[in-house]
Amino acid sequence: MKKVIFEREKCIGCGSCTFACPDYWEMGEDGMSNLKGGKKNEETGNIELDVEEVGCNKEAEEGCPALCIHIKEE
Ligand code: SF4
Repeated sequence: MKKVIFEREKCIGCGSCTFACPDYWEMGEDGMSNLKGGKKNEETGNIELDVEEVGCNKEAEEGCPALCIHIKEE
């Protein structure tokens, strides 16, 4: 199982992830991005989503200037 982890507090709202990976990322009403279907991990405060395939989240991670998108492969 692979996990996409989003440290939303670090997001600067640049929009890069939504262009790189619109299937998973969209801009929220507060101007920061949202990981579609992501759930908040109450322990860490991060948003997390389990995925079968990382897909374009890899490009989103690599292109995020705030380094707040992470992919964990287990
Ligand atoms: S690329 Fe990073 S900083 Fe930019 S909107 Fe997406 S998560 Fe936020």
